[in-house]
Amino acid sequence: MSNWIPYGHQRIEEDDIQAVSEVLRSDWLTTGPEVEKFERALADTCGARYAIVLNSGTAALHAAYFAAGVGPGDEVITTPLTFAATANAALYLGARVVFADIEPGTGNISAAEVEAKLSSRTKVVAPVDYAGHPADLDNILASAHSAGAVVVEDACHALGGRYQGRPIGSIADLTVFSFHPVKHITTGEGGAVLTNNPEYAEQIRSFRTHGITKQKQSVDENGPWFYEMRELGYNYRLPDILCALGRSQLSKLHSFISRRKAIAEKYFELLSDTPGLILPTVHAEADPAWHLFVVRTKNEKMRRPLVETLRAAGIGVQVHYIPVYWHPFYQENRDLWDGNCSQAERFYRSCISLPIYPGLDDPDVEFVANTIKGFFEDDSWSIERG
Ligand SMILES: *Cc1c(COP(=O)(O)O)cnc(C)c1O
Repeated sequence: MSNWIPYGHQRIEEDDIQAVSEVLRSDWLTTGPEVEKFERALADTCGARYAIVLNSGTAALHAAYFAAGVGPGDEVITTPLTFAATANAALYLGARVVFADIEPGTGNISAAEVEAKLSSRTKVVAPVDYAGHPADLDNILASAHSAGAVVVEDACHALGGRYQGRPIGSIADLTVFSFHPVKHITTGEGGAVLTNNPEYAEQIRSFRTHGITKQKQSVDENGPWFYEMRELGYNYRLPDILCALGRSQLSKLHSFISRRKAIAEKYFELLSDTPGLILPTVHAEADPAWHLFVVRTKNEKMRRPLVETLRAAGIGVQVHYIPVYWHPFYQENRDLWDGNCSQAERFYRSCISLPIYPGLDDPDVEFVANTIKGFFEDDSWSIERG
């Protein structure tokens, strides 16, 4: 598999390894000085007051929904074109998921569809910045707020992206990132919530460590050993070892994003006149972080043979995503969700994620583009090309 080109891959360098080794030689393995340093660096990079790191993006979503007050009887509106965790985290808290359809150009949740599904039961609206293209945040924030709902932006694809020139992480009420290896920076597993709201930040800090605080509140006890548990939290802490890796990776975010942008530009240049293919839409207010580069076949029937052709050539393309509610768990638990989304289903049937990551070089990008062009030029598909 040495010639295999995956759709995404981490970039770990000597200085990352050095940063981790230093922590391993220090006194702290879990909650030590690296946690706060990584949080400070993240908050500064994203223009937010607070960053709270957790041990996965999923834990970060769970904590953000918790801070927003999600509970039984509430509804969380999100897109079906996402990783299951965006919806699952609402179910963890006993809420129902209401799926709102997408706009097909970007694959992002449609602000008009969100508006149509808002109700007095809506506690959270959770747009996903699909592929790294910021969602229609101004419109979503305005309609959510007027309905009394909180916006939790699932920005697991969008670290380093901008919307109207503002960094992702500084805009929504709460913004969630993931540091899984296919994302922009990695800690192996890891995630974060960013917010400007001190109460949300405090609740998330408590939630990630069992709901325990050292601040004396209600228990009539005293002494240097004192702590109390105020709510039912979890162990969602990100260890010092991984925070050191995260901070080292974050220092390279700018160069990682530049390379992703250059690859996206090259795909646009090489594939723009390929009949049969639809390239991603980029809105004027958006500066995408290009987590994914998702193309669609004009003819749904061409998706599968194109995927097979690319894979046979050693190109590990993927499909993002099977609509969340198509998964057996959601199909078998119809009471937990609402909303079939025809645009998201159509998008899924034609989409392919092409390789994009900092270590992908120009000859690889050209090879991918040429293989796609060759596929559409191949006569044996001419009947379906019509
Ligand atoms: C990766 C991802 C998550 C989950 O992050 P983990 O760190 O893997 O738990 C959630 N939502 C989206 C859109 C993602 O891409």
